[in-house]
Amino acid sequence: MNQFPKSAYVHIPFCHRRCFYCDFAVVPLGNNIETLRGYGSTTVKEYLYFLYKEILSIKHKSSLSTIYLGGGTPSILDPKYIKEIIDLFKKNYGVDYGAEITMEVDPASFNQNDLYGFINAGINRFSLGAQSFNNKVLEKAGRRHLEEDVEKACSWLKKFQESGLIKSWSLDLIQNLPLCGFKEWQRDLSKTINFSPPHISIYDLNIENGTVFKKLADLGKLSLPDDEESYKNSELTNLLLKRSGYSRYEISNYSLAGHQSRHNRVYWSGLGWWSFGQGSTSAPWGRKFTRPRKSKDYKDWVINQCEDSLDPTLIKRDFLYQELDEKIMLGMRLKEGVNIYKLFQEQNWNKKESENNLEKLLTEWKVFLENGLLIQRGERFYLSDPKGMDFSNQILISMFKWWDKIT
Ligand code: SF4
Repeated sequence: MNQFPKSAYVHIPFCHRRCFYCDFAVVPLGNNIETLRGYGSTTVKEYLYFLYKEILSIKHKSSLSTIYLGGGTPSILDPKYIKEIIDLFKKNYGVDYGAEITMEVDPASFNQNDLYGFINAGINRFSLGAQSFNNKVLEKAGRRHLEEDVEKACSWLKKFQESGLIKSWSLDLIQNLPLCGFKEWQRDLSKTINFSPPHISIYDLNIENGTVFKKLADLGKLSLPDDEESYKNSELTNLLLKRSGYSRYEISNYSLAGHQSRHNRVYWSGLGWWSFGQGSTSAPWGRKFTRPRKSKDYKDWVINQCEDSLDPTLIKRDFLYQELDEKIMLGMRLKEGVNIYKLFQEQNWNKKESENNLEKLLTEWKVFLENGLLIQRGERFYLSDPKGMDFSNQILISMFKWWDKIT
């Protein structure tokens, strides 16, 4: 793998406020932000100065086939900044013809004119962080937007895709949020399907340290759907989405034909990617590097150590051995799974070592193969859909146990 990365992630950390489940590297700026010249604009401009500096610091630039602007809430930014970022890549890295350029947008943080501005800047795919269509669920999760904001955003995106202004768009939901039982989830899914987004991401709620939800959970004040209800929610997701023509191509991602996220596939397939901005993680050739999560630390890092820290991640090529567990884990998230035999061949193991390690892995996986959670076709192993995908954690944990034993 000596090709330079063809994908770049850009982190825009600004949000209006922090949602109750979120532990991302975000900078809450309040409700009344005006990023060009009003309240919040100085903070934004200062961050962008360092972000651009980092983007330009890479010596091994080559043209990009996917760019992803995530956050945070990138749609807080005026379209002028989005254009600046994309132009910076065009001018200094090159952007391939037909490249996928995605931007995360948050309902109630943009209007139809902003969308035109983002499209004019070069965005051709949007990812809408809806999370739910239910006002009570949204409020309980600390979201700012309402059902009507999600509906408005969906109808604009649908219209823009149908008229060819954008190539695709995605809608994100969170499964098993507080107050979102079977009936509420059924309504969320039906509403989603009515807008026929070409791509849907459905994430299970995780309670992360340092979040409001974690504090409530510790106090015994967070009421979530129980195991049985969560299971029924997952079953319903699989049933309704499959029936509506969606293919589950990754554990949390569903798409209509031709609409898989090319950028996200880079992460799962173990290809390298650049990353820019506070708290973001890059892996240009497999080795990961995470930037400081706090604004001040990130800026200091850009000034002082940016190139020093990145260099080892750029030049170190013997990552394959270190990254095998992760390669298996990420590959197993995909519908097509992984060719275990090929991955083993790529290790610096001798034949005997390789055979022993493979035998140990297959022993760990025996039970999953027998009960149909895991399927083997030739040299390829993949999770069955939906059973294996829904219980992927157990399989991945067994894989990590195996990795611990052999390393
Ligand atoms: S809008 Fe997104 S990134 Fe910002 S706090 Fe909420 S979940 Fe986190």
